[in-house]
Amino acid sequence: MAIEKILIANRGEIALRIHRAAHEMGIKTVAVHSTADADAMHVRLANEAICIGPPSAADSYLNIPAIISAAEISDADAIHPGYGFLSENAQFADIIESHNLIFIGPKPEHIRTMGDKVMAKKTAGALGMPLVPGSDGAVSEIDDARRIAKDVGYPVIIKAASGGGGRGMKVVNSEEELETQMQQAGSEAKAAFGDATVYIEKYLGNPRHIEFQVFGDGEGNAIHLGERDCSLQRRHQKVLEEAPSPVISAEERARMGGIVSKAMADMGYRGAGTIEFLWENGEFYFIEMNTRIQVEHPVTEMITGFDLVREQIRVADGRGLSVTQDMLEFRGHAMECRINAEDPRSFIPSPGKVDYYHPAGGMHVRVDSGLYAGYSVPPYYDSMVAKLICYGRTRESCMMRMRRALEEMVISGIKTNIPLHQDLLRDPDVINGDYTIKWLEDWLARNAN
Ligand code: ADP
Repeated sequence: MAIEKILIANRGEIALRIHRAAHEMGIKTVAVHSTADADAMHVRLANEAICIGPPSAADSYLNIPAIISAAEISDADAIHPGYGFLSENAQFADIIESHNLIFIGPKPEHIRTMGDKVMAKKTAGALGMPLVPGSDGAVSEIDDARRIAKDVGYPVIIKAASGGGGRGMKVVNSEEELETQMQQAGSEAKAAFGDATVYIEKYLGNPRHIEFQVFGDGEGNAIHLGERDCSLQRRHQKVLEEAPSPVISAEERARMGGIVSKAMADMGYRGAGTIEFLWENGEFYFIEMNTRIQVEHPVTEMITGFDLVREQIRVADGRGLSVTQDMLEFRGHAMECRINAEDPRSFIPSPGKVDYYHPAGGMHVRVDSGLYAGYSVPPYYDSMVAKLICYGRTRESCMMRMRRALEEMVISGIKTNIPLHQDLLRDPDVINGDYTIKWLEDWLARNAN
C-alpha cells in the first residue's frame, strides 16, 4: 500500500517541513491544530485541517485519541510526529500501528529502548559504541555508588534513567557529597519522571557535543550522514549548530560513522535517528540516542544534498533506503541559527504579533519558518519561530553568508535572538571553531551587563 495522505501531528516549522516533503512526493497532507493555531501557516498550507483541542499542548498536540480520530475522519494512511510532542512516545507509535496506520518513525520497541537511558547505554555498549565510564546499569545502593565513583574518579554525574531535556542530573565532586546527592537525585527523578532509577557516569569537564545522523531501513541496512557539532548551548538547549564539526577529520568521520551505521544495521533500526556523543581529547562517549528527526537536520541536508524527511516517508512506505553509503558525499559547510521569539539577553519569551516579516534569501540560504506578516506568535509553545540555515564551500564563506543573511532578516513587532547570533558570529572563538558545551554560558556571563 502506497502512502497517499499523511497526517502531520505537529505544528510550526517542522509541520511545514513535512508538508513540503510530502507534496514534493505527490502525497496529500492533513494538519491538526489547537484553537490557538487556527491561523498558523501549517494549517493554511495543508490539504485539510482538523482542530484537535484547546491551546494547552496536553489537550491538543499530545492528545492521542483526538489525533487518531482526526486520522480516521480524514482517511489518512500515515502519521508523521515531527520532533517534540509525541515523537518519542512508543505507546503512540503502538496505537497508530494497531489502527492499521503507518507510523513514520522507528519501530516502537526501539523508541522504548532508547527512551530508557540505562537500557540505551547497555544497548549502545553491546553494539560497540564507546561509552562514558560509569555504572553498569542502575545504582540503588550507596556502597555500590561509592565503589563505582571511586573507580571512575571524581567528579561524577548522577543521571535519571527516565530523564530528558537536560533535567535530573547532579554533579558530585567528592565522596562526602555522594550520599546526599544520590538521595536527592532519586527523589527528584521520582517527582519529575515518576521513576527514581539513577545511574552514575564520569563527569567530563569540558567536552563538545557531537552527534551522528543515522538512517536505517528496518531490514538490516543502515547508513550514516556524518556529524553535527551542537556544542553552542544554553541550559542544554542548542542555539547554533554546524556540520561538519570543526574538530573532526574525514578519517575520524568515516571511522565513527562506520561504528554507528553498523550498530543501526545490527539492531534493525528503521528511519531517522541521531546518536549523541560527548567528545573530549579526541575521544567519543555515547550519551543518548534520539529516535526522531531533529531540529538541526537541515545542516546535514545542506552538506549532503540528501532530503531526510523525504527518506523518512519513503522508508515508512516500505520502499527501502534510496542510497548506499558510497553514494553519499560530504561537501562544504553549513550552519543553522535557531531564531527564537525572546529577548536576546534576558531570554524572556516574547510572543505576540509580527508586524513585518522579511526572511533572508539568496544563494545557499534556507529559512524554515511558519512566520508571516500579521501572524501572532502564541505564548503556549516553544519559542523557536524560524531556522536560518546557510551553506558555504568553506566554513569561512558559510559564516560570511550567515552574517549577511542575519543582517537581511527582519522580524518586527516581537523580540528575537537575532542580535545574539550576530554577536556570536563576530566572536573569535566561534570564528575559530574553538568552543565546548560550556563556552556559551561562560560567554553570556562575561558579556552580561
Ligand atoms: P538529556 O536527555 O536530559 O538531554 P543527556 O544525557 O543528553 O540528557 O545530557 C544532556 C547534557 O548534559 C549533555 O549535552 C551535557 O551537556 C551534559 N552531560 C551529560 N552527561 C555528562 C557527562 N558524563 N559529563 C559531562 N556533562 C554531561
